[in-house]
Amino acid sequence: MKVQKFGGSSLADGKRIKKTLQIVLDEKTNHYVVLSAMKGITNLLVEASKNAEKGNSDYKLQLLDITKRHRSVIEELFPTEKRSSINEKINYLLDELKDILHGVELVQECSLRTKDLIMSFGERLNCSIVAEYFNSTGHPSQMIDAREIIITDDNYGSSNVFLQKSYKKIKERLENTGQIYIITGFISGSEKGITTTLGRNGSDYTAAIIGAAMESETVEIWTDVDGVLTADPRVVHNSFVIPYLSIEEAMELSYFGAEVIHPYTLMPTIEKNIPVIIKNTLNTKAKGTIISKNSVNRERAITGIASIDNVSFINVEGGGMLGIPGIASSIFSALADAEVNIIMITQASSEHSICIVCRTIEVEKAIYHLNKRLEYEIKTKKINRIDVKNDLEIIAVIGENMKGMTGISGKLFSSLGDSGINILAIAQGSSERNISFVIESSDKNTALNTIHKTFIG
Ligand code: ASP
Repeated sequence: MKVQKFGGSSLADGKRIKKTLQIVLDEKTNHYVVLSAMKGITNLLVEASKNAEKGNSDYKLQLLDITKRHRSVIEELFPTEKRSSINEKINYLLDELKDILHGVELVQECSLRTKDLIMSFGERLNCSIVAEYFNSTGHPSQMIDAREIIITDDNYGSSNVFLQKSYKKIKERLENTGQIYIITGFISGSEKGITTTLGRNGSDYTAAIIGAAMESETVEIWTDVDGVLTADPRVVHNSFVIPYLSIEEAMELSYFGAEVIHPYTLMPTIEKNIPVIIKNTLNTKAKGTIISKNSVNRERAITGIASIDNVSFINVEGGGMLGIPGIASSIFSALADAEVNIIMITQASSEHSICIVCRTIEVEKAIYHLNKRLEYEIKTKKINRIDVKNDLEIIAVIGENMKGMTGISGKLFSSLGDSGINILAIAQGSSERNISFVIESSDKNTALNTIHKTFIG
């Protein structure tokens, strides 16, 4: 059996939903289909909840938009005489949503718990329509509300799943009856039965949990690109789809900006050794990218290049840092207090400076907290300066085959040198799977194209 997950872009309108049915039916296995909300609906729900919380009646506009989008899909999918039953279900859900938003408007307060409930309507509305549509075309289908089978704690906004409990519930509920199960992605329920969610873009995680529980053969993630690419196609025009990725490579690439999938959310499939395949709804012939434990690209040293825009570099420097334990700890605690995510760290063995790279939007609060925490060291001149440099880019060169291979860094940095690119900082973990470095943003295009040409072709 297979689990197939379709994201919002595969469900943007009636035409795409019809295409999705075709893809599901092309598979002659049992059908476990996980769906996101229709494209853009979760964002509208978030916007509506924010407006209602401010007491701003504009949430009614978003509600209207949500209503119109679903109604027009119903019109596209069902002939007039068959619309009444689905309209009844949808109206029921939309009325409930309207009441909740009105409640939020009255109290001008929207807790994370309430926000989870509001966001859950995206997947519930969409799955109701799709299940009804599949049934109307003569393919017996049943909608499964994942709040009954995916059990979490009550960390609203991004709940933690109790996997074993959920696996048991899933197996009980999804016994093989030969029908198509249409399962709501993203949403879950706490042990007390309260609606929770798995965090934004959480439907991949839903698919992974269902796949792991049912010990499926594969989990397919259907999206709107042909797979994971060797580099950003907007910058590197001859980038191409990577056919195989190891789990670690997928994690590194997705972290560094290849936004196709969040392998962290695929942990349940990794644990059970279930391959995950990225496929394109708009181009079903494309083979996609297979992510699995053993899939290693054997042809090239470097599998892919990723990059993160809009980063800044904070350099903490001082003669008094040398040989003194605890300075690094103070720096990292200050950044943790500031809730700043550190993307990259470098420290030369002279211990004279520590360089941290974070997102530019976080740099101001990072500096504030560093100055506060290191006040004594600055006063006593152990630290001489804290400098910031903006408009930077992190480039990460990723590949399982780099491990133990000599000459990769040499070739990488001399090719960049030949192209006149200045490197501001370098980091390589001992896994040898990733070499990351920082350059000026203006050098991004040249750097990506140079590396792609040198290593990938
Ligand atoms: N609909 C949810 C979101 O937009 C979950 C998902 O699409 O994966 O975040």
